[in-house]
Parts: sequence; structure tokens; C-alpha cells
Amino acid sequence: MRLVDFHCHIDQYPEFKKLVGAIDRAGVYTLAVTTTPDDWRRNLDACGSSKYVRVAIGLHPEMVESHLDQLPILERHLGETRYVGEIGIDGGPRSYGSLGIQTETFSRIVAACAQSGGKVLSIHSFRAVKRVLDALERHFPPGSGVAVLHWFTGSLSEAKRAVSLGCYFSVNERMALSPNGAKLLAVIPPDRLLTETDGPFTKAGGRPSSPLDVHLAVKAIASILARPEDEIATTVLGNLRTVVGVGAPSTGAAPEHPPEQYR
Ligand code: MN
Repeated sequence: MRLVDFHCHIDQYPEFKKLVGAIDRAGVYTLAVTTTPDDWRRNLDACGSSKYVRVAIGLHPEMVESHLDQLPILERHLGETRYVGEIGIDGGPRSYGSLGIQTETFSRIVAACAQSGGKVLSIHSFRAVKRVLDALERHFPPGSGVAVLHWFTGSLSEAKRAVSLGCYFSVNERMALSPNGAKLLAVIPPDRLLTETDGPFTKAGGRPSSPLDVHLAVKAIASILARPEDEIATTVLGNLRTVVGVGAPSTGAAPEHPPEQYR
């Protein structure tokens, strides 16, 4: 069974080129998110020939204030990539002071993505769900592309609002096993579910997790939803097909296997 890690910081591992090789051997569909636009090129260089790793251009909300000068780099390269992330808004104590500039920047990026069309976004919304959803509602109307909320920690009503706006959710093991995460899984429609590790910022067996550990997310979701693991994995793979098919040039036939449109 092919698994999906739709949010991982591949460039944060000491030997990340080796990790790309291991991901390819394991066959885990992986979205390598970046935290600054400058990091995008070196990620592409390392992952460019990978069958399974795709690179997103990002500007992490915690980097917005210090790296705002790189926003034009993101905007300039937007036409060269389908994947954008990690982007978003963070309302935690360290970032609270920059909420205004973060909201402005996020709105500008999603509007540019909507304009460009067919983009798949991996979005951080920690303690800022309302701001994120308001910006998506205003600047990323239905048909603009796909918004994936990564490690969502909002309320049930916020989750329902996100669902109504067409959002997907990438869920990691820690989220699934948290009390709020378990409640959220009950309201996230199966056809909006993706998996992630957010490695190396989560742990697997006491060490930093990697895409090779994403089966733990599948296992946790399966246990919370009381469904078989292979059913969850099949659902997530089907959802990946849908997500990567959005905005892709039509071949006139439904994609049989993700790699055809996973580019
Ligand atoms: Mn992340």
C-alpha cells in the first residue's frame, strides 16, 4: 500500500538527499514544504528527480516578519510550481505581535495562488484559524485550487467551516491521538483526509519522525475511527489523486495512478 506524507520538512534532516532516496525506495508520496522562498531552489535540486517527493515553495508564518523581503521570490516563482507551503498564520505567543503582517502576507499569497490557478496549498493555522479561513473565503474562492490545513488544532465549528470552504486536512499521529484531534476526525469527511508527519518536528519512537513513519498516522487515524488501516490508507491515496488532479491539464481520462499527474 502506498502511503502519503503531505507535510514534511525534508530539508531539516542532516542528510536529506539520502532521505529522498529512502522515500523513493519506500514509495511514500511526500510533499516537501519549505519555510522560506530561498530554500525552494535547493530543495528542488535535491528532490527534482524523485518520483515520490514534490517540493512546495513556502514562507512559514513564523518567518514572515524576518523574511518578508523574500516574498517577491515566492511570487516570481509561483508559475513554476503547483505546490505552495508552508504558508499560513500563527497566533501563538512568539508570533502574536506580527499577526497583522502575517495576515496581510498570507492573503496576498493565496490571492496570487488563486490568480495563478491549480495550486495545492499546505497551510498552518495554529491559534489563527478564523484569520486563515477568512482569508481563504475572501481570496481563494471555490475552483481556485486546493487548500490543505496542516495539523489543524481549531474547534469543531471552525473545522466545519473549513469543510464548507472545500479545505482538506493533513493529519499526523500526534494530532489524531490528541483529545481534540479525535473529535475533529469525527467531523472531517473521509474524502477530505490526508496524512502527514510534519517531520522532523514530531517524534516517532523517541526520534524525529520522517515520511517513513507516516504509517503511524494511518494507524492512529484508523484506531480513532475504528476502521481498518488499509481502508484509511486507500482513502488517503484516493484523496491524493483527487488533489493532484485538480488544476492539472486534462488528459481526457481519470488518473489511474498518482504519478501521472503528481508532478
Ligand atoms: Mn510544518
